[in-house]
Amino acid sequence: MSRFFNFFSKELTHTSEVQARNGLHLRPCALLAKKADAFTSTLTLHANGKSADAKKLNALLALGLEFKDTITLSARGRDAKDALHALGLLLDSFKDEKEAIKLSQSHREYKGDFLKGEAIHIGIAMAKPFIYANDLGLNKNENFKEATSRVKNELKHIKNDIFEAQLAILESIEAKSFKEFEKIIDSHISRVQDGANSTKADDYKDIRNRIFKSASKPKIPNDPFILLSDSLLPSDIEYLSKSKVAGVALKDISPRSHVAMLLRSLDIPTLKVDFDADSLKDIVIIDADSKVLLIDPKSEDIKIAKNAIREREEIKKSAFIKSGEHTITKNRETIKVLANVHDLASAKEAKEFGSDGIGLLRSEFIFKEKKPTLEEQIRFYAEIFALFDDVCVRTLDVGGDKKLPYINIREEQNPFLGIRGIRLLQTHQEIISEQLRAILKAANNRAIKIMFPMVATPREFIEAKALALRVAKKENIQIDNVQFGIMIEVPSVLFTLEEFDKVVDFYSIGTNDLAQYLFAIDRTHKTLQIDDTEGVIYRAITKIARETIKPLSICGELASDIHNTQKLIECGLTTLSVAPKMIPRIKEKIRDV
Ligand code: PEP
Ligand code: MG
Repeated sequence: MSRFFNFFSKELTHTSEVQARNGLHLRPCALLAKKADAFTSTLTLHANGKSADAKKLNALLALGLEFKDTITLSARGRDAKDALHALGLLLDSFKDEKEAIKLSQSHREYKGDFLKGEAIHIGIAMAKPFIYANDLGLNKNENFKEATSRVKNELKHIKNDIFEAQLAILESIEAKSFKEFEKIIDSHISRVQDGANSTKADDYKDIRNRIFKSASKPKIPNDPFILLSDSLLPSDIEYLSKSKVAGVALKDISPRSHVAMLLRSLDIPTLKVDFDADSLKDIVIIDADSKVLLIDPKSEDIKIAKNAIREREEIKKSAFIKSGEHTITKNRETIKVLANVHDLASAKEAKEFGSDGIGLLRSEFIFKEKKPTLEEQIRFYAEIFALFDDVCVRTLDVGGDKKLPYINIREEQNPFLGIRGIRLLQTHQEIISEQLRAILKAANNRAIKIMFPMVATPREFIEAKALALRVAKKENIQIDNVQFGIMIEVPSVLFTLEEFDKVVDFYSIGTNDLAQYLFAIDRTHKTLQIDDTEGVIYRAITKIARETIKPLSICGELASDIHNTQKLIECGLTTLSVAPKMIPRIKEKIRDV
């Protein structure tokens, strides 16, 4: 019927020029076809004397569109005007990709001496430099027992999963003297130093330092300052979080370390940079957006930095005010921004920052020290479900670098390739089964999502879902409104989307793990870093977005960086799940895409 109507309706056209230097190849054509397919009008693309149905990817590819080719899009039908508007904007957005990325980042031009570095967390800060030396002497006034109870007490009072994990490590060390303790902790450090858990070495060092040194930390300025140091430990960040630290420059830091995660969660502009303390002047500027440390800023540089800092503050403020509103791109596409959370406090923070829901509830961080009772679990999930209408709970993702003291996984040669995530069903089915029972009881048939991690085959998903169904049946719980999905973290899923589409209700791309498995680089490795010059991760995301017919989101760390927001939307994603603090700014960025 619509074809018949379209035939007799007026034809509207939009003419433009291909602006991407590489022409319009697979990715843009796929996006165009996908977008065109959402309209009922007949949509045709004309170029080089040929015409193609704009809804058919192969037909578009056959046009062989190259840089500077003139293209005319014609539309006939009821929604021709809207289609032309949306597709016209999309066509105009296909600029040279590298150019587009460059433009979305701020590169400020400075006059004074600067050092190039690597951005760990974006932002700009200007203040007096302060060299932080965290090497304090031994505290000679304590015996081992006193030191241990002091440290346990310190760790117990910090509400953060990294320090709770440190407490669990300390409690597991059976030593009676400083000497014995040192021997055990040093053996742990040398065991993890170069292996799969290399970033864990920082936690062991942190515990050792706390035990051997007094509770006092170096004195820090009362006024705002830029901290410069060789490296930091998680406990230093906890200490600094109460100070007026404006920016951080470190010689040694891994982007995926706990220290980096903590600095990001505090939104402190951070740069990895090799500096010489003697060359620093009275004021320094850290511009992590431009990846530079200005060691001797000129008056023009100070002006640029002041303006950028003010702008950043204003954007943060206005983004926060608007964060509760829906997010619509200039293309009139609605993008959902959800939050990655791990406990009630972070879920409340997500609410405060205007999250549209929870895209990833990392359940393994909830109960770290001891196995929770069923009732404790039910209470916990019910509290989170009460906060949002849209909550996605991930079942326990233990293994690899994530451990729980009450889940004993045998030592493995390659823990990231071993018992992890959903594979726990093979060794600890009762724990997952109890967790499912708690989630389903807490949900009480409200619309929630349950997501399984590290799924590699449709069979694994089918078995996990079957377990949930058995639990529901046994407990007599209605689950008509419960959806079941998977994290896309294992590359095999990329090639079996058609089969997965038949069984799952939704997907969420976990780029932290997907990247480590695509490049075969341990995500916690201290020195090896992924070089994605060829854009493999984005190609993987585009492939998934193009091929699956099921709802798709992304919850890897990549999505929390505003520099990636536009690219992710261009890849075809319409739901992003990000760190709560980043929600207002990401929403603001989306409104500008
Ligand atoms: C991921 O792998 O991208 C992810 C979100 O999960 P996690 O970091 O908890 O493994
Ligand atoms: Mg993961």
